[in-house]
Amino acid sequence: MNPASLGPVLLTLRGVSRVHGEGAARVQALAGVDLEVRLGELVAVMGPSGSGKSTLLHLAGGLDTPTAGTVTVGGAEVSGLGLAERAALRRRSVGYVFQDFNLIPALTAAENVALPRELDGLGTRAARAAALEALAEVGIVEVADRFPDELSGGQRQRVAIARALVGPRSLVLADEPTGALDSVAGEDVMRVLRARVDAGAAGLLVTHEARFAAWADRTIFLRDGAVVDSTGASAGPESLLAAVARDLG
Ligand code: ADP
Ligand code: MG
Repeated sequence: MNPASLGPVLLTLRGVSRVHGEGAARVQALAGVDLEVRLGELVAVMGPSGSGKSTLLHLAGGLDTPTAGTVTVGGAEVSGLGLAERAALRRRSVGYVFQDFNLIPALTAAENVALPRELDGLGTRAARAAALEALAEVGIVEVADRFPDELSGGQRQRVAIARALVGPRSLVLADEPTGALDSVAGEDVMRVLRARVDAGAAGLLVTHEARFAAWADRTIFLRDGAVVDSTGASAGPESLLAAVARDLG
């Protein structure tokens, strides 16, 4: 996307660190990460296993809180919110796609997708209508009344994405959403994520594959919990000038 068409900053991480355990068991999962993601922007996160990618998404979505630094979503400092407020923020603003789908086996596709809306106080009918709309957005409204074990892997992942996108979610977090899919289904998932971000959400996508990262506006690389490199089309004027200066030099 053209950087000029990006919206305001939705997600901000400032000096964010996360330490697990103590003493000999101490693990620094994230170490001083700064990051901004704007509405209309999809940022890919790459890095070796254990580099802190999932921790970064948990913190961005309010599933976890940092041991140092601040996480702000839409002006609200997530780390400053209580448990109930964080849960409400997640239901209203954050769509989370996990690698392993996390669908509830006893609920149909539509019921799985409707659940977050119902938890947020919507009546059953309105929640189902929203669920059908989200399933249509990912192109599988025809399987709305099937159970997860009656769906293919690609369909299950699309249900999980519909659930993450149902309602007005402004922050979409996807942790290796294509990990268990074949390449065609993987491209379909990316198309849906990209469309939602283009429609005005901010997105963070963890992936191991460059061809999926290519759907993002830029990519950050993590190693040992720190951002060690970044790249992409939405580089600011400073780095564009620096690149021009390098070319001239
Ligand atoms: P990635 O998603 O890049 O594979 P993670 O964010 O899952 O990395 O993990 C980063 C580091 O933090 C790893 O060393 C991992 O073992 C550690 N870690 C993550 N979660 C926990 C936890 N709940 N308790 C202890 N260590 C953890
Ligand atoms: Mg991970």
